[in-house]
Amino acid sequence: MAKVLLKNVTKVFGSKVRAVDNLTLEIPDKGFISLLGPSGCGKTTTMRIIAGLEKPTSGKVYFDNEDVTDIHPRERDVAMVFQFPVLYPAISIFENIAFPLQARKIPKEEIKQRVNKIAKLFGLTKILSKRPRELDMGLKQRAVLARTFIRQPKICLLDEPLTNVDPKTRIELRTILKKMQSEFNETVVYVTHDQSESLTLADMIAVMDKGKLLQYDTPENIYETPANTFVAWFIGNPGMNFINCSFKKLNGKFYLNAKTFKYDITPLAKTVKKEASSDKLILGIRPEHIQISLDMKPSWIKSKCVVTEPLGNRMIIHLDIGDQQVVKAKSSSLVDISPGDTVWINFPSDNIRIFDGKSYNLIS
Ligand code: ATP
Repeated sequence: MAKVLLKNVTKVFGSKVRAVDNLTLEIPDKGFISLLGPSGCGKTTTMRIIAGLEKPTSGKVYFDNEDVTDIHPRERDVAMVFQFPVLYPAISIFENIAFPLQARKIPKEEIKQRVNKIAKLFGLTKILSKRPRELDMGLKQRAVLARTFIRQPKICLLDEPLTNVDPKTRIELRTILKKMQSEFNETVVYVTHDQSESLTLADMIAVMDKGKLLQYDTPENIYETPANTFVAWFIGNPGMNFINCSFKKLNGKFYLNAKTFKYDITPLAKTVKKEASSDKLILGIRPEHIQISLDMKPSWIKSKCVVTEPLGNRMIIHLDIGDQQVVKAKSSSLVDISPGDTVWINFPSDNIRIFDGKSYNLIS
């Protein structure tokens, strides 16, 4: 219900810890964005700055073009949900959810209707008369989320809200959250270090590392065209494979030259020559894009299976391609491959990505 703009926001703790480093980020009104990154990358600090619980060392925060940098948290109309559900212990779940409406002096009958409606959506109808202590973590978090959405704040900040709930509830709550956000037209910022949550929930993902924003884009673009090797590795399960190469011209053609194979990139040579900072390049390929065969194929790369990880109906196969480099391939079904087997692999040209070997940024 509000657009948020963080403009050149930096937060330094003490004299050394740069928790957030010159972050500029625009969160669209009614958008569902995710802050994603490893532990300590500055996600929670960014959230706390939006909520007004931390003051930036420098930079500005705007809600709908209004500068709120110096506005008290209570006046920002922002709701926050944390990993551990916080409910009023002495009152029922119904009263907990109704609390923001009672504070606004909404008529009793309307409160009842609205609470019953949202309780149904969150699967809480049967436990509305219970006290928080009678509920497990998943039900408590459902109640907290119901209270957050019924309040209809300007911005909902959700800080790893599903981390401590059981896996089944987690999947269910993801669907409910997405539905709630569009039903209530909320602006949601969702913090997580779980890339699968970001990919399934968010319209836009902001990938952070060491306080810096590395990429802010749609889940599709982050997956397809990661800005650098960190994003490429962080997104995906497992992340992208990288093979160190050099750029080589041979008989009028251009190749990524790995020690044990050459990969023809003649159609991309112009871009690579223009963008690369040196002849050091990195070939990136996602595990699910590697083609595998037990039969010899002339132009494919020879590798040796070193480990297999069965995953129910699919498999991750660790393949030694020589020169102490191992890539992981992910098959879409179970395949009869065991450690020691020779496996022929192919990297389809549409699926390879080329990164600069010095800056680690995407070239093509
Ligand atoms: P996590 O996923 O572990 O919660 P995060 O990405 O949310 O991590 P932050 O909690 O924002 O990261 O922390 C970013 C950096 O700032 C870390 O190095 C952290 O130790 C430091 N930090 C956070 N809050 C404070 C504080 N109040 N005082 C000092 N350092 C802090």
